[in-house]
Amino acid sequence: MKYRTVIGLEIHAELLTKSKAFCTCSAEFGGGENTKVCPGCAGFPGTLPIFNQGAVTLAVKAGLALNCQINKYSVFDRKNYFYPDLPSAYQISQYEYPICTNGYIDIGGKRIRINRIHIEEDAGKLVHDDLEGVSLADYNRSGVPLIEIVTEPDISSAEEAREFVEQVAQRLKYAGVCDAKMEEGSLRCDVNISIMPYDATEFGTRTEIKNLNSFKSIVRAIEYEYQRQCDLLESGKKVIRQTLHFNENHGTTKPLRSKEEAHDYRYFPDADIPAVLLTDEDIEKIKATMPELPDSRIKRYTEEYSLPFADAKLLVSEKALSDFYDEAVKVYPAYKQVSNMVLVELLRRLNDTGASIDELKFTPAQLAELVKLSDEGTVSKNAAKDILLIMFEQGGHPLDIAEKNGFIIKDDIELIEKTADEILAENPKAVAEYKEGSQKVFGFLMGQMFKKIGKSASPQTVKEILNKKLSNL
Ligand SMILES: [Zn+2]
Repeated sequence: MKYRTVIGLEIHAELLTKSKAFCTCSAEFGGGENTKVCPGCAGFPGTLPIFNQGAVTLAVKAGLALNCQINKYSVFDRKNYFYPDLPSAYQISQYEYPICTNGYIDIGGKRIRINRIHIEEDAGKLVHDDLEGVSLADYNRSGVPLIEIVTEPDISSAEEAREFVEQVAQRLKYAGVCDAKMEEGSLRCDVNISIMPYDATEFGTRTEIKNLNSFKSIVRAIEYEYQRQCDLLESGKKVIRQTLHFNENHGTTKPLRSKEEAHDYRYFPDADIPAVLLTDEDIEKIKATMPELPDSRIKRYTEEYSLPFADAKLLVSEKALSDFYDEAVKVYPAYKQVSNMVLVELLRRLNDTGASIDELKFTPAQLAELVKLSDEGTVSKNAAKDILLIMFEQGGHPLDIAEKNGFIIKDDIELIEKTADEILAENPKAVAEYKEGSQKVFGFLMGQMFKKIGKSASPQTVKEILNKKLSNL
């Protein structure tokens, strides 16, 4: 590869406020077309905005989650352009004085800088009906508050871009800023991309790919656009600065329009909305409501709890899962054993049924109790899995379930010895094979033992007795 890729991202994240940014209409996704609209968000002249303070709180949280400086003074501007999904013909945004600046995220030891985060309102949606040959406007989304996160051009590959967006999405979810459902459009990404020879000192001409709405599309669009720009330069042509649309079906980009410059939008402060003023106290108050973020949790899990990095990463993949684990180890701090139960057994059940952590019928403390019963040898490891399944399906306390189902290990030696004699007598062929040196049949004989005596015997004791009996034969 002769050329290196230079990528900057603009991530749009819908804020989890109940109502819209500048009116009291519901900001919820879905519903019938134009059912969440008032004269304000439909852009009628003469209406006045009522600013939703909740949007500021969430934007500040986003800034804190992305290591930004929080600005105590920020201003709303009008970004003027005409498009049918924008009935007021201007979008309320922040231009010169955004709410957050100078953030960063570290990815694999590399720092990706965030230039700014600003608050703006979303536009409506056009639905194109090819059959009738018309386009319909749905203004339910008009005025839903967004933040736009703008990075510096520090990203140099499709994979790095994906990793960055994943990290941003995860942090926003942790902070309760955005649900980051790319399939519903609550997190969307524009990619600015250019290429330059490795020894060059100046950036190449960049193109902007609009509205990518899945991690896969981000990767595919970047890979395609990189190759397209390389081909242009290789054949002596130039890259034209323009805005592109990525076609998911064909995996190609296509020009939407030539790229606007900031001055095309005629930004000016919106005189109807007062500047946002924050005090140190306001910011501290918001800071106090922030949860521990994924990177700090990974550090705690690997350094203090000695968990492998891969396990720690999986635990923090969802805040609810990590919270559940934290609650469980508070009750029984066997970090590795509890982590195994959560990551192997619990996740398996959740994946199998499609249920979420919030729907569990048992508490973290009960899961901790189960791990403890297994560690102390009160129940076998296999029985613990069965108990978890019952807890998963019906709820209940692990010790009660163990007692009810005969899972408590009693190690009735007399019974185990008697059963071993029976099993060996019933399976002369297996015994002969064992004597000839086949270790495989031992597992078979163990299985036969447990079929008869159930889960109230410990594998260790059964193994010892079976071994003893076999060597005495
Ligand atoms: Zn409204």
